[in-house]
Amino acid sequence: MLSQATLKRFDEGKNVLHGKVAIVTGSTYGIGFAIARRLAQDGACVLLCSRKRDNVDKAIEQLKAEGLNISAIQCHVGNKEDREKLVATAIEIYGKIDILVCNVAVNPFVGPILDTTEEMWEKVFHINVISTFFLIKLVAPHIQKQGGGSIIICSSFIGYIPHPYVGPYSITKTTLLGLTNIMAQALRFMNIRVNGLALGIINTNFSKVILKTPELSSKLIPLGVYRIGEPQECAGIASFLCSEDASYINGENIAVTGGMRGRL
Ligand code: NAP
Repeated sequence: MLSQATLKRFDEGKNVLHGKVAIVTGSTYGIGFAIARRLAQDGACVLLCSRKRDNVDKAIEQLKAEGLNISAIQCHVGNKEDREKLVATAIEIYGKIDILVCNVAVNPFVGPILDTTEEMWEKVFHINVISTFFLIKLVAPHIQKQGGGSIIICSSFIGYIPHPYVGPYSITKTTLLGLTNIMAQALRFMNIRVNGLALGIINTNFSKVILKTPELSSKLIPLGVYRIGEPQECAGIASFLCSEDASYINGENIAVTGGMRGRL
């Protein structure tokens, strides 16, 4: 575990995103929340979202109390109308979009891959991959209007080291590594950079299932996990990738794993 003093250091904003407008999906708790908070601490106006009204209210209350420039909307990214409303809301409130962080993912099943159903595959691909692509497609013309900007796709180390106990989820994360590359090629003529974060094991609700499944948790030490990361440790790199300091970084998947392998 990191000390409180170290964790507090992550909260010191650097203003590198002053004047920028960002949408972060799945941002009412966990990694998305930490990224939304950091982008706002670094000067951006941030629209956060998630499915549940209570979570949206709680997140916005906390971040507004910290004096951050935040708005929030209830949005299920798997729903086309919700995605359209998300983008329309950003334009209505801020008049533009410069940054999109696609953070949402689901993992509907943990167990032997031969026990998975067609419905599970459809759900996990729909939320993790298809919705990500269609949100990017919707947002890109708005970023282009600003002369360019940045998109981040949250993937996972498991995209590089797929595991049959989280088979469909693993494969969506491998697909997102590819989507990052393809979208970077497709959008570079709009001056939009697309980069990915291949995240390691991070201390959130999402990772609890991995840690309590022996078939998965027993693999972590051999893979080089010497400690679990904190959500704040994923946020600075997201802010950097969105900033001008990363202006020549495009199409990369950056491993944020504390040393676990992050390459194909
Ligand atoms: P988390 O703690 O479960 O948080 C998920 C967030 O997304 C919440 O704000 C949740 O709020 C929202 N959400 C879930 N489904 C949504 C949907 N369909 N539409 C809109 N919002 C939705 O997850 P996390 O650990 O922060 O993971 C974030 C990303 O990092 C994911 O892409 C995950 O694959 C990746 N990742 C995580 C780990 C890890 O160890 N934690 C490792 C590798 C990669 P509501 O419940 O209100 O919707």
